[in-house]
Amino acid sequence: MNTMEQYMEEAEQNLLHTYNRFPIIFEKGDQVYLYDYNGKKYLDFCAGIAVFALGYGNKEYNDSLKSQVDKLLHTSNYFYNMPAIEASKKLTEISGMDRVFFTNSGAEAIEGAIKAARKYAYLKDGSTDHEIIAMEHSFHGRTMGALSVTGNPKYREPFEPMIGNIRFAQMNDLESVKALINEKTCAILLETVQGEGGIYPADAAFLQEIRKLCDEKDILLLLDEIQCGMGRTGHMFAWQAYDGVKPDIMTSAKALGCGVPVGAFLMTEKVAGQSLVAGDHGTTYGGNPLATMAICKVIEIMEKEQILSHVQEIGAYLEEKLDKLVEEFDCMETRRGVGLMQGVVCKKPVGPILNKALEHGLVLINAGTNIIRFVPPLVIEKEHVDDMIAILRECILETEKS
Ligand SMILES: *Cc1c(COP(=O)(O)O)cnc(C)c1O
Repeated sequence: MNTMEQYMEEAEQNLLHTYNRFPIIFEKGDQVYLYDYNGKKYLDFCAGIAVFALGYGNKEYNDSLKSQVDKLLHTSNYFYNMPAIEASKKLTEISGMDRVFFTNSGAEAIEGAIKAARKYAYLKDGSTDHEIIAMEHSFHGRTMGALSVTGNPKYREPFEPMIGNIRFAQMNDLESVKALINEKTCAILLETVQGEGGIYPADAAFLQEIRKLCDEKDILLLLDEIQCGMGRTGHMFAWQAYDGVKPDIMTSAKALGCGVPVGAFLMTEKVAGQSLVAGDHGTTYGGNPLATMAICKVIEIMEKEQILSHVQEIGAYLEEKLDKLVEEFDCMETRRGVGLMQGVVCKKPVGPILNKALEHGLVLINAGTNIIRFVPPLVIEKEHVDDMIAILRECILETEKS
């Protein structure tokens, strides 16, 4: 039998090397713990990048997927299927949006949102010269359209030209947005809480003013809730915490399927009535019965287990513990975030700390080189926060010594 190292070598011979992976093969998950090929146990504060909200091995979720596999896996969007009907109802209910299109990923949800915004503007004035304002340090995915609105030149440059007519403003700097608005502007796109870019929540005043500007000028507000949505901030969608703010189009993915690859973009009736129509957009797999069964169960279980109040409680506890840690260590600058989406900004690259954490059985990831990101399963308890903090303390002490 091969060792874990031999299998990883094999992987590196066959997989395209687009990731510098941590040297671990995970084989099994149980609640908030992962187990590697050698049986070593890890406390998981990554959750597959803010995906596995329910924790691993939720019986109700797993059973419903298993029975759906036996019943019907795929039919195509030429037909209706029951789980998609149910998922669309649940998703519009929890979001207050009116119409949903199911995708297979976050990037595809962004693609759809961009197309809907462009079509909306096109139907208004017949022009194909509309601009979208996105934010610096944003992340919206790796496909060409999503990349075009991603505010990280390093990701974009080798793949130029992008889709064009995209302008970048500064998150939480209203003047920078106003300066870019003109008669061509059709949409303003932002993550309600920036994830990859460093865990930056949108200021309330900033988002509220943008909403007003959009209303005044009939510009569409596109909120990317792919990482910060589905309960992570203690609200089903992060924007629901902002008075007077509702997007015209929003995207979801990651925890929406809790491990089954899904995404969605949703819109209000105003946009739906004047944008994408039959023939404008499609997908083979999007909204298939397995994927939408996952969505149904995720929403059902989150509601039943009152995940939002749980996240508010544990999120506050995590904040308190992280703040103490930041106070204790000189190498840490500040903490920011909402609910169970937190970042600790460090003065140095955090790679060595993350590696040390894995040695000690704790999975953490970064958001940018200097920020430790905390996006655990939403079902974690205080004791898990305590365990995480204890391990992280030890890791910082050890890396400071070396
Ligand atoms: C992960 C992410 C995406 C891209 O989702 P994929 O499923 O990886 O395509 C887009 N936007 C945000 C905010 C994300 O965190």
